[in-house]
Amino acid sequence: MKPAKFEYVAPTTVDAAVEALRAANGEGKVLAGGQSLMPLLNFRMTRPAVLVDLNGIKELSLIELRGDHVAIGALTRHREIEQSRLIASKLPVMAAAMRHVAHLAIRNRGTIGGSLSHSDPAAELPMLSLFYGAKLSVQGPSGRRTIAAEDFFVDALTNCLEPEDIVVEIEFPILQHDGWAFEEVARRFGDFALASIAVSLRRAASTVEDARVAVMGVADTPLRLKEVEDQLRGIAIDNQMPDRFSELVLSCVSANGDLHASAEYRQHLLGQLAKRSMQTALAAKGW
Ligand code: FAD
Repeated sequence: MKPAKFEYVAPTTVDAAVEALRAANGEGKVLAGGQSLMPLLNFRMTRPAVLVDLNGIKELSLIELRGDHVAIGALTRHREIEQSRLIASKLPVMAAAMRHVAHLAIRNRGTIGGSLSHSDPAAELPMLSLFYGAKLSVQGPSGRRTIAAEDFFVDALTNCLEPEDIVVEIEFPILQHDGWAFEEVARRFGDFALASIAVSLRRAASTVEDARVAVMGVADTPLRLKEVEDQLRGIAIDNQMPDRFSELVLSCVSANGDLHASAEYRQHLLGQLAKRSMQTALAAKGW
């Protein structure tokens, strides 16, 4: 099928894009990489009266180090993030995860703003935004505001954006870690994850000083596991830790099932990935 008829607008500033959405009176839709939106348009699962194309807004494409965080513009392509040296050195968990995002052709077009706004529960960037404690800068008719990633995702494919809002950029705090890992299982490389986990650890002598843990593909939104992080803090690092960590993660998550995989299978995968991720994180500094 082909999309239902729509008016096409190609603004060159964020202000003009927000104004075009406001004028569309709730009937407007933003186009970024088009990798998720175009199929929805073609199947007429969405029928906007106005399509506001962000691709001419140059200020939305950037990756910048700003003090203790890295700012990424909403129109930055997955492939640019994957290949960025700055991301590799400051946000290594993100760098490792990016090659799991879809296939090369999709990564060449797909954007971080599109991925967060689409809010797929098995997509890497939404999960990473929780993992890093990112902040989204969003512009609407009444100006700019900041939304913490933990407040952004509401349900599967659902977030707290209003119809006239545009995600402008995302700030990712730089984590200090002594070891980290990103693990994922998908049916075919590049498919959406059946289960995935990101972990980072900071140590003090032979105990865990701080930890970050997030998972995806197992619930209606990605999840940051703060309870697991709290329980890891202060525990002694020994060779039982991967097993203990796996048990801890499973005690805090009850995986969803769907037509791609049963709940039991996803739960099993998550346990195995948790164990493997902890082994990798601990191996980083020869713990
Ligand atoms: P678009 O398709 O242009 O837009 C998506 C939605 O976000 C639309 O509702 C649009 O209006 C809205 N939007 C876009 N930008 C903004 C903005 N700045 N502000 C507000 N709203 C905005 N993703 C993964 O993470 N992991 C995968 O494994 C994966 N596999 C895929 C496999 C296939 C076959 C396909 C087709 C896609 C896959 N994707 C995967 C999705 C891909 O990453 C998309 O690029 C991404 O979800 C959407 O980004 P986009 O820039 O293409 O957004």
